[in-house]
This record gives sequence, structure tokens and C-alpha cells, in this order.
Amino acid sequence: MPEEKLLILSCCAPCSAGVIKKLALQGRNFSVLFYNPNIDQAQEYQKRLDENKRLCKAFGVGFIELAYEPDVWHEAIQGLEGEPERGKRCSKCFYMRLERTARYAKEHGFTHFSSVLGISRHKDLEQVNEQARQVSAQEELLYDFTNWRKGGTEELRREVIKELQLYNQTYCGCIFSRRGKNEKIA
Ligand code: SF4
Repeated sequence: MPEEKLLILSCCAPCSAGVIKKLALQGRNFSVLFYNPNIDQAQEYQKRLDENKRLCKAFGVGFIELAYEPDVWHEAIQGLEGEPERGKRCSKCFYMRLERTARYAKEHGFTHFSSVLGISRHKDLEQVNEQARQVSAQEELLYDFTNWRKGGTEELRREVIKELQLYNQTYCGCIFSRRGKNEKIA
């Protein structure tokens, strides 16, 4: 059995805070990957990226940033723009980010991959898991289906957000989720 080397896809610092602290305390061998072409506006992307880097640095965890490619994301979700949150656009969005994570993991000797995409109560965890199942089968790489909402992770998450005063955004990430939260945003 090869030594564990886990790669976790993170969407943002507040969602990954509890998981990072928990795994770091357990002495697990893992790194965090940031691949979020879904985030609308470069400024917001940079803010979430910087916060996630700061969080990983605080716990001495490896951080990998893949290219910010919003055009690739918009092409992937073409035709699904009018879908509601938790609809087909989100499935596609999860799939493409997980696929990229799995490919990076395979290319860099990780033994399995996971994500915090379903950690927020606003998300449908089973929807994320279904996309992860498909990517895992396609890429032939194990996915860690741990339910990160449980096992004390939520308490740790709140603690870390407070300790590090992490930026906590009010919408998921894409332009459609941003408009959904604030109709006045252009
Ligand atoms: S609402 Fe979130 S998960 Fe759904 S498409 Fe937008 S960024 Fe992706």
C-alpha cells in the first residue's frame, strides 16, 4: 500500500478551514488545490485565492494554484446559464473542477483526491458526490467521500474563521449566484 498523499480541492478559505485544521492536527499527508474558474471577476478571485493561501500557510499545508480560466468555465456551462443553484449548471461546474483536480493528482503522484465543495449547507452534498463518483471512475483515482460536515469539522471551521478573521463571501462564486444574492449587481 503506497503512503497516503491526498489532494483536496478547495473553493475558498471558509469552506476548507475546518478540514485543513483537522487533517493538519491528525498529521495527515495532504495538499490543497485551488482551481476555481467559476469565480466571477478577477478581483474576487484574487481575494479568495489570497485567503486560501493565508489559511494553508497558517497550518503549514502545501497549496497549489491552477490557472484562472473563466472562459473555459463559461464554455463548459454554456446553455445552463438559466439553471437555478443546485441545478444542472452546478453539476457541470463541480464536474469540471473535480476532473481537473483528479488529473493533477494523478500527474503528481497523489493516491486519492477529495473536495470541500459540498461542505456548505447551501450545497447538495449528494450532488457533489455524484459528480465525484463519475470523475473517480473516469480517471480511475479514488475519491475520499468523507462527510466533512460531521466529526467536529464545523466547530473547527468556525474557530479558524474567527481566529484568522477569514474573508467570508456571501455567494457561491459565479455571476449567476452573485446576481441571485444581489439583484442590483450588474
Ligand atoms: S452556483 Fe456555485 S456551484 Fe453552481 S455554477 Fe455557480 S459557482 Fe458553480
